[in-house]
Amino acid sequence: MRTAVVLFTRDLRVRDNPALAAACANAEHVVPLYVLDPKLQKLSPNRTRFLHQALADLRAALRERGGDLVVRTGDPVAEAIEVARAAGAEGIGMAADVSTYARRREQRFREECERHRIALRLFPGLTVVDPGAVRPGGGGSSYRVFSPYHRAWRAAQWRAEVATPEKITVPPGIVPGPLPEPPEGDSPDAAEGGETPARRLFTTWLRHIGPYPELHNDLPADGTSRLSPYLRFGCLSPLELANAAIKQDAEDYVRQLSWRDFYYQVAFVFPKLSTEPLRLAGDTTWRYDDDALQHWKDGLTGVPVVDAGMRQMRAEGWMHNRARLITAAFLTKHLGIDWRPGVQWFFRYLLDGDVPNNSGNWQWVAGTGNDTRPYRRFNPIRQAQRFDPEGVYVRRYVPELKGVEGGAVHQPWRLPAEVRRGLDYPGPLESHRDEAVWLRP
Ligand SMILES: Cc1cc2nc3c(=O)[nH]c(=O)nc-3n(C[C@H](O)[C@H](O)[C@H](O)COP(=O)(O)OP(=O)(O)OC[C@H]3O[C@@H](n4cnc5c(N)ncnc54)[C@H](O)[C@@H]3O)c2cc1C
Repeated sequence: MRTAVVLFTRDLRVRDNPALAAACANAEHVVPLYVLDPKLQKLSPNRTRFLHQALADLRAALRERGGDLVVRTGDPVAEAIEVARAAGAEGIGMAADVSTYARRREQRFREECERHRIALRLFPGLTVVDPGAVRPGGGGSSYRVFSPYHRAWRAAQWRAEVATPEKITVPPGIVPGPLPEPPEGDSPDAAEGGETPARRLFTTWLRHIGPYPELHNDLPADGTSRLSPYLRFGCLSPLELANAAIKQDAEDYVRQLSWRDFYYQVAFVFPKLSTEPLRLAGDTTWRYDDDALQHWKDGLTGVPVVDAGMRQMRAEGWMHNRARLITAAFLTKHLGIDWRPGVQWFFRYLLDGDVPNNSGNWQWVAGTGNDTRPYRRFNPIRQAQRFDPEGVYVRRYVPELKGVEGGAVHQPWRLPAEVRRGLDYPGPLESHRDEAVWLRP
């Protein structure tokens, strides 16, 4: 092939990028392309900022190899076809994806490529194992329970990592186009996007991966990798990460990575994961309470561990997994509020926010999804006492409680009245004043 276009989507890296590697191996000229879709830019200022940073980093990496990143704005299908025609490209390559948006885009690509006699090729790369590659026995289309999925995922034949292209030659006459400045995000302490910061964190993480089994639930220790935003945008290959973790015998970590693939294969067969329950049971009894919902969003519920998690997300665009479980369970199982506004709020702030993992996890917590114990409850106070016994995490994100020592911070309503009066911190929500509610099993 003389010329190929590589359309980057959620694979913003040069290392272990199957679509880019194949184009560079098979074509003389390659057009690395990203199309900024105005429809997606509005969903989350945090992710849009991260994306722009990642694109600048990708452009620099491609330039180091003699290439460039061609940037266009508009409808990805129309723009990619136009660039392909202008470059005289015979083929377009891109990573396959599972969301409804991505699959509609893919279908339109098929039609338009056929019309213009351009070959379309889809590549793996967003997950370790392709969604749909491992299926349950008995003819099921996807695994609904995690443990058997994990066993099949671990036993599956994984693809080989691909080499990083050394040289990329863009055809003459293709104007790269300007890359807009990264816009403002919502969260002042958000991580920076790009393959360069991803690799820095990846290298550091591999040195600290050892105590993951003991530390990953420990809220103040912050002992998880924080690599999720980089996986979300493909600044780091999930396969490379899984292989590197296996080399270090970090099976607990590898297992966690397979949760990510698990939800991709769920979304692959159930694209309405963000709006419709996987299990109808339990989805009919939600309350609609705008006031309580707003307090939850603002981190002002009066339950310190919940408020700490919600404020961590606002400040950093990321929240510890244990805090995500506690805050999501608080909204759905304690306040009894529908999980869908929770999905949307997380989706606005999270740098790693994506349809399969955000909605899949929300449904798991709400009891409408893939949990084998859908009626389980998370008692926020017991969770806080177990995973933040000294209250360090809470005081980090709820400065109003800085003066309260030790684990007493988790139940401010139990403090002596004169101490309580001195705190600029709300009491429990009106509908949940009765302390007994926290202690329900
Ligand atoms: C309500 C709720 C919403 C969530 N929304 C998202 C989301 O939008 N995007 C997202 O990537 N994760 C989501 N998660 C899963 C999990 O909280 C994050 O992946 C994790 O906190 C990311 O931090 P880390 O990279 O330090 O994780 P680590 O502990 O270092 O784990 C390594 C990787 O494994 C994967 N992983 C770990 N736990 C899970 C899990 N429960 N489900 C799926 N993948 C997992 C992630 O890719 C993560 O980067 C959500 C969890 C809950 C309970």
